Amino acid sequence: LTNDQLAKWDRDHFLHPSTHLAQHARGEAPGRIIQTAEGCYITDRDGNRLLDAFAGLYCVNIGYGRKEVAEAIAAQAHELAYYHAYMGHGTEASITLARMVMERAPSHMSRVFFGQGGSDANETNVKLVWYYNNILGRPQKKKIISRWRAYHGSGLMSGSLTGLSLFHKKFDLPLDTVRHTTSPYYYRRADASQTEEQFSAQCAADLEALIEAEGADTIAAFIAEPMLGTGGIVPPPKGYWAAITPILEKHDILLIADEVITGFGRLGEMFASPSYGLKPDVMTIAKGLTSAYAPLSGSIVSDKVWRVLEQGTDENGPLGHGWTYSAHPIGAAAGVANLRLLDSLGLVRNAGEVGAYLTRTMAEAVAAHPHVGEVRGAGMLTAVELVADRDTRAGFDPADKVVPRIVAAMGRRGVIARAMPQGDILGYAPPLCLTRAEADTVVAATADSLAEILG
Ligand code: PLP
Repeated sequence: LTNDQLAKWDRDHFLHPSTHLAQHARGEAPGRIIQTAEGCYITDRDGNRLLDAFAGLYCVNIGYGRKEVAEAIAAQAHELAYYHAYMGHGTEASITLARMVMERAPSHMSRVFFGQGGSDANETNVKLVWYYNNILGRPQKKKIISRWRAYHGSGLMSGSLTGLSLFHKKFDLPLDTVRHTTSPYYYRRADASQTEEQFSAQCAADLEALIEAEGADTIAAFIAEPMLGTGGIVPPPKGYWAAITPILEKHDILLIADEVITGFGRLGEMFASPSYGLKPDVMTIAKGLTSAYAPLSGSIVSDKVWRVLEQGTDENGPLGHGWTYSAHPIGAAAGVANLRLLDSLGLVRNAGEVGAYLTRTMAEAVAAHPHVGEVRGAGMLTAVELVADRDTRAGFDPADKVVPRIVAAMGRRGVIARAMPQGDILGYAPPLCLTRAEADTVVAATADSLAEILG
């Protein structure tokens, strides 16, 4: 097939996710047809080789083209491509992966349910939390509090939990069981006079005021990414989690930690929750679980939640929740091989070290630019927030498409960064195997593209 043929079929037949559909149908969207990939690099059918500083969608943690994972997938497909996990069925791969996940999860966690992606894992989490409260005889404890600028997926519930208006508008979301509280986005939400600690205390006070206004007996859970991802790659301000968690405990509200991005090493630790002092009741995992070699997600429940779920099935019969592809053997085989490589290649440590280097050298290269408001990051997650005016922190006119133009200029220099969906933010989430030399390439492409577009 020629590239032109593929491009025409693509325009005529393919309804793409998270894409400007009209522009795509007119052939104006910036999509590429990707052909191969190796390490941190992808190659498209036009022969462009690009350093993917976003690891796909923050997911190819071990890097592209790992033969060990491809071979594990092929071996599984030959031996047993599929059997379901209902009624207690398993495969060597799915049982081994459950064991490996639980060996890595915080010690108070108990069991993992497997799904396909992060969105359905969050749908599962909310259902498990509702089931939990129903079994405990408090069916009114149902609302879920999320945060503005959170991203928890695109399903009916997970899209409602998401706190970005792009994912709500014209979809009649959020559902009425969802509330959103203040985003811990110090650069944009704090008063000029507030320290990070004072702003964190305000976020906690806002959360408590919301709980009291709604009635604590109506709130089931608080869901949060340990560090905001798609909402702008924003590390929590100092003291944030220490201020939030006592309020959840006081009001008997479960904590769902969405570790879809942070899980499996991205912040330089296997999971981010323990490093921020969080003791989640439920954890969401996806992306780095298989490094996206096959779709697989998980909902990890704590001992406390597990004990109630167990009791529930004694009272009501089997759990009425599951997917055909729960614990899919091919996804599970990919997960096992992926987690082995994550360990054997020392990628969690590398994420911490090279990630810190990337954020530091990025700041050295671009922080003084008059249109850079903030450079921030943690582990292998970095953001450069741009401003039209540094003093007022005003954003650019969206019609000017400043960040998409910078991303396009970086593409011409052979580097992929992401124009984050809301705000003038360049995002970086490279594979965890990024080297310092590759980080230098990312920083140079950013600085040069910034200079090209904004002077
Ligand atoms: N939760 C978080 C924190 C995410 O970043 C994402 C996706 O980026 C999701 C959930 C949804 O995952 P998926 O796109 O696999 O459904």
